[in-house]
Amino acid sequence: MDATIRLALSKGRILEESLPLLKRAGVEPAEDPLKSRKLILDTNSPDLKLVIIRAADVPTYVRFGAADLGIAGKDVLMENEGDGLYELVDLKIARCRLMVAEPVGLAARDDPKSWTRLRIASKYVKTTQRHFAAKGIQTDIIKLYGSMELAPLVGLSDRIVDLVDTGKTLKANGLAEVEHIADISAWLVANKAAMKMKHARLKSLVDRLAQAAG
Ligand code: AMP
Repeated sequence: MDATIRLALSKGRILEESLPLLKRAGVEPAEDPLKSRKLILDTNSPDLKLVIIRAADVPTYVRFGAADLGIAGKDVLMENEGDGLYELVDLKIARCRLMVAEPVGLAARDDPKSWTRLRIASKYVKTTQRHFAAKGIQTDIIKLYGSMELAPLVGLSDRIVDLVDTGKTLKANGLAEVEHIADISAWLVANKAAMKMKHARLKSLVDRLAQAAG
């Protein structure tokens, strides 16, 4: 097996919040990943590389062993459930919550206890379906890839399921939170075979990251 350890990360909040954590764990990229266009970055450790990929692709790279470790949002992991990864450490970064939201006018008279069938736009199709199926609520889910907040404003759906942090995006678009689905943060995940084959070296990095996450 390849001697190099690859850690998969995604651009955006996860990368920004992972860098200080990696630094506390003794890992420093050879160049600034926020500025570089390189997809594989060297680090101060000769056998550790950072691989920069799309958030939704992190579980795929790790599951196939193209990356030994990855940092992925719980939202992405929930949507990829049964993916055959180890979810090792809650890194407690990129925190937010997965919520059902709807126009404020509807929220003023809506009662989630009365829901029987919902038309929802989301990129979290499986998570949404699972959440409502467990409560016996039927769902018509429209798959989107971004800007979910737009869907109820133009009549594509009545409600959305999306990540909410400060709530500013919802507010700016006349939407309100109506139901909490899950608290979200980024997790350190590992390829199962790599955890056996490269155990000593991975364990040392995993332990340092767990300690840095506190
Ligand atoms: P906010 O306006 O602070 O509530 O942020 C909401 C917007 O940021 C939505 O478009 C979300 O999809 C996105 N967002 C919030 N938190 C996260 C996160 N931890 N990871 C990725 N996207 C996020």
